[in-house]
Amino acid sequence: MGWLSRFALIVPILFIFSCDKRQSAKSTGSLHGMKVYFSQSETRKKYQNDFLKLAADLKTVGVNTIFTTVYEGRKAYYPSRVMHSSEPKLNLIEMRDVMKQNDIRFAAICQIFYDPDIVLNRSDLIPVDSHGNNVYVDWQKMVCPTDKEYRQYKLSVVKEVAKKFRPDILCLDFVRYPTTWELVLPNEKPDQIRDFCFCNRCLLSFTQKYSLDFPDSLIETAQKAAWILENHGEQWTAWKVENITRFVKSVRLAVERIDPNIKILVHTVPWSSEQFDQAILRIAGQDVKALTPYVDYFSPMIYHKMIGQDAEFIHDLTAELYETTRKPILPSIQIEASNEFQDYTSNEFEQALIYALMTPSVGAVAFNWGNLIQIGTNESDRQARRLVLQKVFQ
Ligand SMILES: [Zn+2]
Repeated sequence: MGWLSRFALIVPILFIFSCDKRQSAKSTGSLHGMKVYFSQSETRKKYQNDFLKLAADLKTVGVNTIFTTVYEGRKAYYPSRVMHSSEPKLNLIEMRDVMKQNDIRFAAICQIFYDPDIVLNRSDLIPVDSHGNNVYVDWQKMVCPTDKEYRQYKLSVVKEVAKKFRPDILCLDFVRYPTTWELVLPNEKPDQIRDFCFCNRCLLSFTQKYSLDFPDSLIETAQKAAWILENHGEQWTAWKVENITRFVKSVRLAVERIDPNIKILVHTVPWSSEQFDQAILRIAGQDVKALTPYVDYFSPMIYHKMIGQDAEFIHDLTAELYETTRKPILPSIQIEASNEFQDYTSNEFEQALIYALMTPSVGAVAFNWGNLIQIGTNESDRQARRLVLQKVFQ
């Protein structure tokens, strides 16, 4: 193809692309979200007692919905009766009210099967992989999803959050089996992704449910796991999925009784249905179709640089999720070029944001505000990214 004809093809494509951008970014009701974490010291220092300033700063970049963790580990960021302790100087219920007064919607993030504090005292909650290994290899201190007492406890926390905050959206984060998807690149071999949970409780519960008996020759956890995966793989995946779906269903029913106006959002791993031999089901236990009756929004965490994809993947995965669920999809995208991703320019961030807002998306959530307010070097880069948000969100 000659230079001129190639140019003739590109021009209309660019034109369509920019129209699409305007259409989705400016459409009324589009959700423009920002993840803000009070576990980060920069954020806390800057806004601890000045939520009005936070609301004003978020508005400056066109954000209309704040997403924030209302507890982390055993610590609540509000006066809690259910949790172990509450931060004495932080009450995000006050922030929720300030946001409301400033027309910023409030999305409360509830971490479910992630609790770095509880596993310090409850080693039986530490998940075990198919090799019989229960060692955490990174920051993600996930919890085995089948302990009844823990599930009940987390459900009571979620109910308290619903009652006390009356959030516009209640977000279920880490509502899945353990997998550090942030470290899984597209060329990863499916059997290299750690597969959980084969702890004694899970092995017992699964074999009881399906009336199975391990052959007497199997002693080690790794042997039992291999036997399950080889002989009862489909049942195993179905059981994992059920353990996750059932929890989301129980949240849905409980929250509906508290306030039917509260929307439920589930954060999903950023894998297409077929990727890594259906790892979203097999490894994460997230069956988006099965979750659909209990969920108002799905929010895939498509931090594309982190997972070695190009920006277009954000749109592709959003479209696939919509096709499967017919539910509103809110892709979450990364803002920052951290050390490993120096080539993530503000131009590419803009491109990512545009892809995130394209139909059938109903908005986008940027991850995270701390990246834009850190004090130190690279202020010009942060300013460039704030300008991108202003331009595309407003
Ligand atoms: Zn387990």
